[in-house]
Amino acid sequence: AAFAALGLAPELVAAVRDMGYTEPTAVQQRTIPLALAGEEGGGAFNDLMVSSQTGSGKTAAFLLPVLHTLIQQQDEIAAAEKAAWDAKVTAALSAGEPAPKRPRRKNPTDSRHFKPAVPGALVLCPTRELAQQVAADAIDLVKHCRGLRVASVVGGMPYQLQIARLQNANLMVATPGRLLDLARSGQIKLDQVRFLVMDEADRMLDLGFADDLAEVHQLTSQRQQTMMFSATFAPRIQQLAMRVMHDNGAKVR
Ligand code: AMP
Repeated sequence: AAFAALGLAPELVAAVRDMGYTEPTAVQQRTIPLALAGEEGGGAFNDLMVSSQTGSGKTAAFLLPVLHTLIQQQDEIAAAEKAAWDAKVTAALSAGEPAPKRPRRKNPTDSRHFKPAVPGALVLCPTRELAQQVAADAIDLVKHCRGLRVASVVGGMPYQLQIARLQNANLMVATPGRLLDLARSGQIKLDQVRFLVMDEADRMLDLGFADDLAEVHQLTSQRQQTMMFSATFAPRIQQLAMRVMHDNGAKVR
């Protein structure tokens, strides 16, 4: 099977081709259609627990469906905004008024215009190194997508620089501790997160992040889909899933 046959947006199929991936790996073939199935099935998304090892292609298995859905949602928003603008112009012209002027963009790094970052998708990783690797893969995958931005949120980066980069991020790849620091201080709002991925959930438990994951679960009240990736489904992972997933029905092994 080919990536195009999985139903992914052409921008993503082109990016995957540029990266030299010719065929989806086994975990990609199983996960991507299940993760997307909700759209064809009337808007409900499946929550997924996926057992996968490093090297299996698991990163693209969660990034591709999440990015696909972000692209679709962005296209819908852009179409609605364009329709509203066209209607405004038409109304002005037919009333004999001059066409309205487009609003100026505000500089997001200007503190007078401070707004918290409001990502639509969030990937949680156990370590800074993994988060940076996942963010780098995501940046490669969005290279043909206009207006989709990726940021990593990890400890040890200069605070101000990181915050400026976060402003317009649609997808954030984060370690739980730093993410919650920024959420508690109001720099990041998590209530628009639609898609949450927990990568290497077993390692996040080993590192003591169970309560942080539960807090992220509480803060992402608008979530439509949760995906949990782990090397195993040991009982403690099942317990975590009971705690932080709405529906832990589907599993991919
Ligand atoms: P991961 O399991 O996500 O850490 O991926 C392991 C490696 O496989 C990474 O270097 C990816 O770039 C690469 N990879 C992921 N998907 C594919 C694919 N479909 N074809 C070839 N290489 C891939």
